[in-house]
Amino acid sequence: MKRATRLVHAGRDSAAQQGMVNPPVYHASTVLFESLDALEQASKNPFEGMYYGRNGTPVQFAFEQAVAEMEGAFGAVTTCSGLAAITAALMSGAEQGAHFLVTDNVYGPTRKLCDGLLRRLGVTTEYFDPTISADALEQRITADTRVLFLEAPGSLTFEISDVPALAEVAHRHDVVVMADNTWATPLYFDALAHGVDISIHAATKYLVGHADAMLGVINCVEAQYLRVRKTAAGMGYCAGPDDIYLGLRGLRTLGQRLPVHEANARALADWLADQAGVARVLHPARADHPQHALFARDFTGSSGLFSVVLEPVDRSRLAAMLDHLELFGMGFSWGGYESLVLAVNPETMRSATAWQAAGPTLRIHAGLEDVDDLVADLDAGLRRLRG
Ligand SMILES: *Cc1c(COP(=O)(O)O)cnc(C)c1O
Repeated sequence: MKRATRLVHAGRDSAAQQGMVNPPVYHASTVLFESLDALEQASKNPFEGMYYGRNGTPVQFAFEQAVAEMEGAFGAVTTCSGLAAITAALMSGAEQGAHFLVTDNVYGPTRKLCDGLLRRLGVTTEYFDPTISADALEQRITADTRVLFLEAPGSLTFEISDVPALAEVAHRHDVVVMADNTWATPLYFDALAHGVDISIHAATKYLVGHADAMLGVINCVEAQYLRVRKTAAGMGYCAGPDDIYLGLRGLRTLGQRLPVHEANARALADWLADQAGVARVLHPARADHPQHALFARDFTGSSGLFSVVLEPVDRSRLAAMLDHLELFGMGFSWGGYESLVLAVNPETMRSATAWQAAGPTLRIHAGLEDVDDLVADLDAGLRRLRG
């Protein structure tokens, strides 16, 4: 079946819920067992069926089934945020003395986790240029390398890595390949088909899609599934059933929302590229992106998030632009229905490569508004920027 059809039907079982289209939201801690036998039987596999609220309720299992089916995963694990999903995945590969290879354009809090908690636990993280060749990556793999962590594109600077080539090298050395696939969603990058073993999503973004819940989900190949499940459960991670419900509900319309985010972002990026005051547009679907060929080969679409580098400008002029936008909100996160803009500082979040930009970098999330109105808002903003 085609993706649009699977998005609508994956993880549904109306017969098991009195004919209702959507699963019930049970608020649960205790699950009662009928007998000592039943309790002992359930304890043999506490990750299957209803066991304890922390281990999952029907809406969680429906969400996991649906997400796993979209990405062709053996199983999915839900967490209370995208960062918790990243933490659970990385902790599943952590042990004293382990060496992790992590892309230099990784999400900031992922870097903080590696350089903080994981370092204290005895894990060494080595960062590498996201555009590294497979040969150069192979040179960095040691007998202790356990994890290769990718993020393509990076969510501030939008470099694309050669995921299949890097994954192939990693697998040759028994290194587990993890990727933060939040930007592309399961719709636009088939992570597991490109060699990723553990595909991580901040479901907070496009899966929830309405800026109203925190949620994470980890899609795993069979060999990694139980390890990740047990790691997340062992750390006590669980998401609230109402938030999971919002994730599942958001998933059903992802196929309609994402193409609108995509088209609006493409139009804004192309328009911005021609404006005075804009030095560079960072959008992998544009032909002028340095890794556009990789993007065109591996991705089936682009989402609504991209960046622009401005010409050098006074902070006061930048504030004049940003403080008075009418439609673009300023704040963290993205993937909701509304447009956002954020001044970002990629130079403070990398160590293996230097970020080259003379002026400020703005990250833009194209929402579902009419694109003409978004252009008019940015146009007025750029006029204020230029003074
Ligand atoms: C937002 C984000 C996360 C973290 O998700 P939260 O739900 O906010 O914890 C992880 N990776 C990327 C690329 C993100 O943009």
